[in-house]
Amino acid sequence: MERIQIQTKGNSEVMDITGEVKGIVKEKGVDSGICMIFTRHTTTGITINENESGLKSDILTFLNELIPKGGGYAHDRIDNNAHSHLRSVVLGSSVAIPIEGGDLALGTWQSILFIECDGPRKREACVNVIDG
Ligand code: ZN
Repeated sequence: MERIQIQTKGNSEVMDITGEVKGIVKEKGVDSGICMIFTRHTTTGITINENESGLKSDILTFLNELIPKGGGYAHDRIDNNAHSHLRSVVLGSSVAIPIEGGDLALGTWQSILFIECDGPRKREACVNVIDG
């Protein structure tokens, strides 16, 4: 397993980590298999979509409208970030991508997006490359 260190800059942010993951897959030299990417945090998410500035902004606006801060959540009594946890629940914590010909079998417009929901913080994602 490899780890990617991610320093987020905003409170909410969409970061493209495709390049780092592709680098790890190439290093491993696996021709055919599965690459799993997992975030080790309860207030971040990982998804696959297009790295386009307007869409990245739309994703953050959508999450903000879907799960607004201070919505009367029970967890806010502890550290006032229930909205960040709930956004992570909606996004999910991992993705699995097929490996074909030694590279990620992503479609033309697909990128691996790491989504910060409670930053800025130092974050870490795990990458497992499985031969098979
Ligand atoms: Zn919390």
